[in-house]
Amino acid sequence: MPSDITTEHSRKILVTSALPYANGSIHIGHLVEYIQTDIWVRFQKMRGHRCHYVCADDTHGTPVMLRAEQEGIPLEALIERVHGEHFRDFSDFSIAFDNYHSTHSDENRVLSQGIYRRLDQAGLITKRTIEQLYDPEKEMFLSDRFIKGGCPKCKAEDQYGDSCEVCGATYAPTELINPYSALSGATPISKASEHHFFKLGECEAFLKEWLNPEGDNPPLQLEAANKMNEWFEAGLRDWDISRDAPYFGFEIPDAPGKFLYVWLDAPVGYMASFKNLCEKEGLDFDSYWQPDSDAELYHFIGKDILYFHALFWPATLKYAGYRTPTKICVHGFLTVDGQKMSKSRGTFIMARTYLEHLNPEYLRYYFAAKLSDRIEDIDLNLEDFTARVNSNLVGKYINIASRSAGFISKRFDGQLASTLEQDGAKLVADIQAQAAQIAARFEARQFSEAMREIMALADQANEYVSDKAPWAMAKQEDQKQQLHEVCTAIINAFRLLSIYLKPVLPKLAGEVEAFLNIAPLQWQDIDTLLIGHTINPYRHLVKRIEQKQIDAMVEASAATLQQTKPSPARHGEAQQKKGSAAKKAATAKDDDSMIQFDDFAKVDLRIAKIVKAEHVEGADKLLQLTLDIGEAQTRNVFAGIKSAYSPEQLEGKLTVMVANLAPRKMRFGLSEGMVLAAGPGGKSLWILEPHEGAQPGMKVK
Ligand SMILES: [Zn+2]
Repeated sequence: MPSDITTEHSRKILVTSALPYANGSIHIGHLVEYIQTDIWVRFQKMRGHRCHYVCADDTHGTPVMLRAEQEGIPLEALIERVHGEHFRDFSDFSIAFDNYHSTHSDENRVLSQGIYRRLDQAGLITKRTIEQLYDPEKEMFLSDRFIKGGCPKCKAEDQYGDSCEVCGATYAPTELINPYSALSGATPISKASEHHFFKLGECEAFLKEWLNPEGDNPPLQLEAANKMNEWFEAGLRDWDISRDAPYFGFEIPDAPGKFLYVWLDAPVGYMASFKNLCEKEGLDFDSYWQPDSDAELYHFIGKDILYFHALFWPATLKYAGYRTPTKICVHGFLTVDGQKMSKSRGTFIMARTYLEHLNPEYLRYYFAAKLSDRIEDIDLNLEDFTARVNSNLVGKYINIASRSAGFISKRFDGQLASTLEQDGAKLVADIQAQAAQIAARFEARQFSEAMREIMALADQANEYVSDKAPWAMAKQEDQKQQLHEVCTAIINAFRLLSIYLKPVLPKLAGEVEAFLNIAPLQWQDIDTLLIGHTINPYRHLVKRIEQKQIDAMVEASAATLQQTKPSPARHGEAQQKKGSAAKKAATAKDDDSMIQFDDFAKVDLRIAKIVKAEHVEGADKLLQLTLDIGEAQTRNVFAGIKSAYSPEQLEGKLTVMVANLAPRKMRFGLSEGMVLAAGPGGKSLWILEPHEGAQPGMKVK
């Protein structure tokens, strides 16, 4: 039985999170899923199971292709850059993938084309010619989202090709009034093309069996299973899995100019990432993916992509001769302060912006305190976030250590007692007794219940501290032994709670291990106690959140999102924005991209001498520049060029700066302008330098 918590043997578990699209940055809405998965994976690893967690960037499809075109860089350069950004964001939130790969990889090409061939051999691929709207200017077929026009029902203008945002009507793009291409503005024409379809309808009997509604361990939550039944009742239609060139993806075998639709190769990316890991670590790929595999396979996904994961994915796996998923763990979306994340309110918070202001473990804890095994949206209430982190994490949990460690260090040379007094022994036994219950909560993804139970134990520990009042005992020389045993019990209670919290707070757990002078904690360590052991002096482990940190993060989110519009993702809420962003780009090409001389003259460009360049502590992208622009005072500018320049390369050089850019408050100080640079970023970045003779302060015009 796969998920039986009492199973003693080591399980083989493969876990995935949905693949983020290579066309935008990670935001805190994404992080709900990665944090949820990472907690579950860390728990399994602590339990001693062979658990592998793989993910990848999802790179294919039209939006990535258009984005590279828009930026004027090769596709490979774009996906490599975004891969690096995603990986850094995840790593900084302690999301510990065993492999983070790319769907634009050899492994994925071989697997995806192989799956296509096997489905074809199984008689599940059919071809037929369809009429589709085509952009004669861009010379490409347009998906519904790239066509806009008037709603045929309510006549509202600028509606997408599939549905009206004003009246909610759904229709075919051919029904739009005065349709236009969101890419070029051209009037689309209807054009015929042969498409390849996967005959999903023929998989219905298999899918119903796979759902296993009467079984002990069904692959879907009840709510998701109900959704499946709705889809069965509506009838399963053939799935269009081909796209015509130009398209960024894998070619369909023996069909020149035809490509696999991104949604076919994206989930195969899970396999490809694992295959890549197997090659690196010598694991047996087939033993995980063959139909009778003894490994368990878990996919964590958001509710918006259930259709792809619960219908197409098991069906393609089954008929291509692979095993099917053990479980698909579906979660809801994130709201902030009860509403959809909003740019103008500053609640559309990018992962990087969060990291510049707050400790990532706070968010891990908060999400854990909110997440359940149900498909419901969770809310990040910023006031509650502050209160909960401060009262639970700092006030209850960390406080336990800080209230006793000093006595151990000062009075007992850091050495713990070799016995516990009666009440202390009962306290640690009570905490140990909850191990099976808390493990079952983690296993079942009932994290909020686990956090509630752990905090109840922390309350119990704090009551013990208050009852025993070690600070009073410390004043009585005859109570020294009692003091020693009480403080030892408190440290042990703290250690046990740290084991329970370790999947959620891995970084903090590492600091606790260093403080307690012990090896990395495993789940089984719950059965032992620290007796007669020497610990290190206590240093404060977690700070309280201050309101001004939250304010600064919200302010920075509002500011950065005015400068850079978030890129459209392939699925979910962000998809709604795809059309409008593309439209904006298209219209800009006509008129908006021209400015008058007066507009240009508003920008105060000056020759600046880099008087000083230095590293910024705690910033991995920034250099701090002191610039002389011929004024009495030098300017301080933080420039994101650390990946391309060392301070020594810059000092004494001349460059060009925007001198009248509104100053921006950053974590490291005030940035008073901007230096100009060219290139896509990373190492490929070149700052501008004037010809010899230019002097600091000269206006560039
Ligand atoms: Zn309408």
